[in-house]
Amino acid sequence: MKIQLPKSFEYHDDHGNFAYVRDGILYMSPYMDFEKLMYSMTYLLEGEDKCFYCHRPLHSGNRTIDHTFPRGLGGISITDNLKPCCNKCNLEKGDLTSKQYNQISKLQDKKVKKEAIEKAQKSNLEGIKKYGILIPKRWYEMKSQYSVIGTITSDRPSKSSCKYKKLLKKYETYKRICRPVVVSENRFVLDGFMVLFMVKNLELKIEIPFITLENVVVMI
Ligand SMILES: [Zn+2]
Repeated sequence: MKIQLPKSFEYHDDHGNFAYVRDGILYMSPYMDFEKLMYSMTYLLEGEDKCFYCHRPLHSGNRTIDHTFPRGLGGISITDNLKPCCNKCNLEKGDLTSKQYNQISKLQDKKVKKEAIEKAQKSNLEGIKKYGILIPKRWYEMKSQYSVIGTITSDRPSKSSCKYKKLLKKYETYKRICRPVVVSENRFVLDGFMVLFMVKNLELKIEIPFITLENVVVMI
C-alpha cells in the first residue's frame, strides 16, 4: 500500500535522524522513530485543532491520536490509520473502529449505547478469532516467508518483554498472528519485529500479515 503523505515535509529528531518527502516518497534515516514520524505527519495532514469525532477544539491538555482501526484489532501507526482526537472520545471509542464509533457515539440512550458497544465488541472478537487482525484487506498480504533486510523498530527481541508475552498470549488463544509486520519499500521492518521474532522462536509454519509501504524508503 501507499500511505498518505503531505506534499512537502521535513523532520529532524533530537538524535540527528531526519526524514523528508520528495516526489511522493518518504525517505527516512534508519534509526528514526517511525511512529513518532507518523504522528507528526498526521497533525500536518489533518490539522491539530479539532477532534475528528466530536469536532470540539483540541489543545495540549486533551489532544491525542486515535488509531481508526485500533491496535487491539491489529491497527498500526500509519497516517491512513491515525486521526487527531480528544482524550474523551479516544477513551470512549476504546477498541472500536471509527466506523463503529461514529454510529454508536450518536446514540443518546445510555442503555442502547452500552448494548451497541457490546455488540460491536463481540463482532470484533469473532473477526479476530477468524482472521487474527481486522484491518482493511487491501492493506496487507499473508505471506509464509518474506526476506527482510533489517529493522529500524525499537522492539527489543526478548522473550521476557511485555510486548512478546502479549503477542504470545494472543497467538495461544486464537492460533493467529494478531499484529501485522510493516516493512518499507526496500524491505526494512518498520513495525512488528516482535512478530517475526516470535514466529522464528516458536518455529511456526504459518502465514504472517505483511504490510509493505511502497512509498516509504529507509536511507541506508
Ligand atoms: Zn472528541
